[in-house]
Amino acid sequence: MPAHDVLIIGAGLAGQRAALAAADAGASVAIISKVHPVRSHSVAAAGGINAALNPEDTWESHAFDTVKGSDYLGDQDAIEIMCREAPEEILWLEHAGVTFHRSPTGHLGTRAFGGASQARTYYVADITGQAILHVLYEQLMKHHERVDRYEEWFTTTLLQDDAGNCVGCVARDIRTGALEVFDAKSTILASGGAGQAFKPTTNALICTGDGIAQAYRIGAPLMDMEMIQYHPTTLAENGFLITEGARGEGAHLYNALGERFMEKYAPNKLELASRDVVSRAEQTEINEGRGFPDGTIALDITRVPRKRTLEALREIVNIGKDFAGVDITREPIHIKPGMHYIMGGVKTDFDGQTPIPGLYAAGEVACVSVHGGNRLGANSLLDTLIFGRRSGAHAAERARGVAMPKSASSVLSDAQAGIDAILNRPTGGRRVSEIKNELGETMNRYVAVYRDAEGLATAREIVQRLKQEAPNAAIDDKGSVFNQDVLAAIELGYMLDCAEAIVMGAQERRESRGAQFRTDFPERNDEDWLHHITVSLNGDGPELGTAPVTITKWQPQARTY
Ligand SMILES: Cc1cc2nc3c(=O)[nH]c(=O)nc-3n(C[C@H](O)[C@H](O)[C@H](O)COP(=O)(O)OP(=O)(O)OC[C@H]3O[C@@H](n4cnc5c(N)ncnc54)[C@H](O)[C@@H]3O)c2cc1C
Repeated sequence: MPAHDVLIIGAGLAGQRAALAAADAGASVAIISKVHPVRSHSVAAAGGINAALNPEDTWESHAFDTVKGSDYLGDQDAIEIMCREAPEEILWLEHAGVTFHRSPTGHLGTRAFGGASQARTYYVADITGQAILHVLYEQLMKHHERVDRYEEWFTTTLLQDDAGNCVGCVARDIRTGALEVFDAKSTILASGGAGQAFKPTTNALICTGDGIAQAYRIGAPLMDMEMIQYHPTTLAENGFLITEGARGEGAHLYNALGERFMEKYAPNKLELASRDVVSRAEQTEINEGRGFPDGTIALDITRVPRKRTLEALREIVNIGKDFAGVDITREPIHIKPGMHYIMGGVKTDFDGQTPIPGLYAAGEVACVSVHGGNRLGANSLLDTLIFGRRSGAHAAERARGVAMPKSASSVLSDAQAGIDAILNRPTGGRRVSEIKNELGETMNRYVAVYRDAEGLATAREIVQRLKQEAPNAAIDDKGSVFNQDVLAAIELGYMLDCAEAIVMGAQERRESRGAQFRTDFPERNDEDWLHHITVSLNGDGPELGTAPVTITKWQPQARTY
């Protein structure tokens, strides 16, 4: 039975950064990932990572932009930490081997991103996530004596001792189907977001909210779950992302009448207003009949010099060709707002600690909360690295003071019984994929850019019905080797838990703030709603609560761009 000081579930940027920090602090570490680590979703991150590193920039300016971007729902103490520590982190990455773009003078080059008052996004063409992830993985291999990697292992459950401490997890070796108990003094969830609860989404198939639901099921509160980011530029059919880097390089948005409509909605920042503002503007144009017949808006990248596009945006050149049949260097591409990111997640402090002793969370699974109602583009990679590192260091420190737990052997037999019950379901019922599609389409219809009480009530009803159907969803593959059917059935349960919390939060917040726009409550209402909404599992059902927003220096103001 593997036993480690620090167990990390997830090997994207947050997990790998946490592993390196914990190993540096002298801990023995295990890192588990349901896919090979460099196939983690962080590999898809395109446009870059923010930091106030240039001499003319300041962390205060970065922090203020982030607070304003969050529509004042972000916790300002956590935002200050993230923005203060950002420059050091970029330099650490650079020294570790990340080949950030350089300007003609040889300095690290920046590009503009939405909602930022300075060009402070550092990037590697439009493959920034891939570049960073591969460098971290090299470092992980270098640390192989301290870090055991469990690649293609699927965590099913978090474990708690009688005192309520988190003491590890149960995981299934996907290659063989064998279950194993992992004992750990500290456990860090770094298992990413829940985008697959929506259809379409920019998120990979593996983003199924596993860690959010696993933490919730053992009593950890979730926070800001209603805050779902719709990215302004995604392909209509399949949700593929066209990076914000395109607008950062100078691309414009036009409606079907040829109007540069952002002049109406954000006269100063135009296409580089924050994402919630641009997505709402696009959706308004589409809803009011000024979109194209396919329900889209045009993104014109031909304004960017072709040589620059081919150098700095080469990935979206390929995406345009392969998935929309469009050469973006020669003609506009049709896009629309699409589900992209979950600002909410497992509530943590700024060392990643959840209210459950021994359980940490970092990255998209967590809610520190640095993004509040709306995340600024290129702040997520930063969040994964800063709070991944802090969690890893804190978890290693905690591990020094506690004894190695030892789980009872019944844990394994109970977990096996759960898997057997899935395998032994009668065939002929509704398929997992059908239920998942209905969930995704429901969320995308009723819990999207614009929401109202009626639509949210319909979504809640459907989610509750799907929760009843899911435990009987049919499984075709009864085997043990790479049985994705079993995993998909488990993931469906996680997505449904996340969806329920998202809808409940959206129903509860009777105002419009950040990514949550309620057509029945169209104003921001600081008097009644300047607080976080939490969702916790109480007995068998979800329970809503609140948590205060930390305000340090920036009092809420009207938010214009
Ligand atoms: C297309 C796209 C482009 C983006 N571009 C940018 C950008 O330019 N800048 C920016 O700041 N942000 C960007 N983002 C957001 C950012 O990429 C993500 O928020 C971030 O990478 C999440 O990292 P993470 O480490 O939290 O999770 P992930 O990278 O998603 O990693 C999750 C890990 O958890 C593992 N895991 C999950 N469940 C289990 C389980 N049950 N058992 C075992 N392992 C499990 C997975 O295998 C994986 O290793 C982008 C997002 C998308 C979708």
